[in-house]
Amino acid sequence: MVKETTFYDILGVKPGCSQDDLKKAYRKLALKYHPDKNPNEGERFKQISQAYEVLSNPEKKRIYDQGGEQALKEGGMNSGGFSSPMDIFEMFFGGGGGMGGGSCRNHKRKGANVVHQLSVSLEELYQGTVRKLALQKNVICDKCDGIGGKKDAVEQCGTCQGSGVQVSIQQLGPGMLQQFRTTCGDCKGQGERIRPKDRCKQCNGKKTVRDRKILEVYVDKGMVDGQKITFSDEGDQEPDRDPGDIVIVLDEKPHESYKRSGSDLILRMNLTLTEALCGFQKCVTTLDNRVLVINSPPGDVIKHGDVKAVPDEGMPVWKDPFNKGRLIIQFIVDFPNSIDPAIIPDLEKCLPAREQDIVPDGAEEVALLEIDPEQECRRKERARQQAYEEDESGPSRVQCATN
Ligand SMILES: [Zn+2]
Ligand SMILES: [Zn+2]
Repeated sequence: MVKETTFYDILGVKPGCSQDDLKKAYRKLALKYHPDKNPNEGERFKQISQAYEVLSNPEKKRIYDQGGEQALKEGGMNSGGFSSPMDIFEMFFGGGGGMGGGSCRNHKRKGANVVHQLSVSLEELYQGTVRKLALQKNVICDKCDGIGGKKDAVEQCGTCQGSGVQVSIQQLGPGMLQQFRTTCGDCKGQGERIRPKDRCKQCNGKKTVRDRKILEVYVDKGMVDGQKITFSDEGDQEPDRDPGDIVIVLDEKPHESYKRSGSDLILRMNLTLTEALCGFQKCVTTLDNRVLVINSPPGDVIKHGDVKAVPDEGMPVWKDPFNKGRLIIQFIVDFPNSIDPAIIPDLEKCLPAREQDIVPDGAEEVALLEIDPEQECRRKERARQQAYEEDESGPSRVQCATN
């Protein structure tokens, strides 16, 4: 039982969810509300980041589960104790795997990574595919080599003497002066400028131009939801800076019949009572469109909830695609809602005999009523909430009575 669920609610997960669920929830929300994509959701992005930071750390999670946000603050984790949302994002999505990278670099600053989500079907992850992704990015202008104009056309900005900053002094009162530092408006903080007539015609002095780039993303057999594919140095180009990476994050689309569990595939198969008792032959289409025949010979009985496996018909293992997981079949036996009483004697002849209880004198006969499990669940939840509210404000404050 956790004290409060705010952080869980922010990420849309339940207390007690796995670290994998947590990562997945963070990944989806962080990409959706990243300031690059959703500039007006900065506060939301921050909340997502803080919730993830706490819940992904076993120690902080334990403190939060026991005492809520208050306990974190008392433990020294006040709002200043959180990492910056961008750092959390960079740590989570910061490349990894992929091609190249890691080679010894010179000491130029590296630009920010650009993260894109790529939605892939389970079929694509089973068979592997190449997806083309069209992206817009800034590249160094090839006409002026990133100078912005002719070589000798660049001059120091006279307004700020090349510092990029303007200092102004304002008198606030007698003998009280305040200094203001603002970005130089003439050179936009660059410290240099190019005479308008000498500006590069292609980039208009901006040094970079927008370019369309097609990336070929190789989705290998067996890749998993959330896996990153990194294109080193393919991010936005800027003069005097190494470009960042483009990181593609795979997002596995839910499949209408199969569910994935590691390298196993799970399939629910409905059987009629007759099939469950008398045997059946059923066809299953695989993710690469082959047809498998599943047999249950006469004489074998499949019970409701039985689970069976077909070896080597699960997902391929990444980088070892001839090695495949299992196809796990969960059987669901659909019982008939009623049976014609006239056929019962015949039915009884073929089924195991009934056991007769001896009814003692004075035993009471009672009625069986239907129960809707979902409604039961809701009723329990209401009762729990009510108890919690009374706990908070004392039993005197009685809330509106339930039905
Ligand atoms: Zn200037
Ligand atoms: Zn140019």
